[in-house]
Amino acid sequence: MTVVHHLDDSTLMRFASGNVDEAFSVAIAAHLELCGQCRAALRAAESCGGRLLELTDVADIEDDAFDRLRDHIEGSEINLVQLKPSDARPARHADASETSIPKPLQCYVGLSLDDVTWTTVAPGVLKRDITLSTKTTNKLYMLHIAAGKQMPEHGHGGSELTLVLSGAYKDHHGRFARGDIADLDEHDEHQPRVDGDQPCICLIAAEGHTKPKGLVARLLRPIVGI
Ligand SMILES: [Zn+2]
Repeated sequence: MTVVHHLDDSTLMRFASGNVDEAFSVAIAAHLELCGQCRAALRAAESCGGRLLELTDVADIEDDAFDRLRDHIEGSEINLVQLKPSDARPARHADASETSIPKPLQCYVGLSLDDVTWTTVAPGVLKRDITLSTKTTNKLYMLHIAAGKQMPEHGHGGSELTLVLSGAYKDHHGRFARGDIADLDEHDEHQPRVDGDQPCICLIAAEGHTKPKGLVARLLRPIVGI
């Protein structure tokens, strides 16, 4: 497996500084587990951040900045110390199982995609809401979308991360398969279609509601709940 679509640098910087909530942290950490390139980029960001801190007046640094950064690194369950230069290449996934769930997500939904319980929200679309342990207005959920299914065209009420865990989808940004992440903001609109003959399972961290386009999509939103 080769990861093609990655996190934006700005997202990695916010993660490195502890500036993302639980919903987005889980999605980011799950992608990092599958992507050596972003792990290397995160390490570089942290190194750069450390250098900046050295050059900054100590009085300007928030008291808990180091604690928050350490908590996020530990929470991601990624051993950054063991990264090698080879991690900077596009990742070839060493995980033998295409149905395994990345560790940062396991405590929410189980070890395998086969264990996930779903709720049908529309024909061919299953959803799993994920309950978070901290208070946030952002949402974390999984979608299981049938082969060949096209989602309604929609925009976003804010930032959205979509990490593919199984199968693949296509939109105007390209093809997204296991490990790929779409790092979208409120200006992005897209209409994903499941690619291939397998269902596509995604993890989605979203800020605000999606903005469906078209009457049918708008009518479906209260039912689908995304
Ligand atoms: Zn990446």
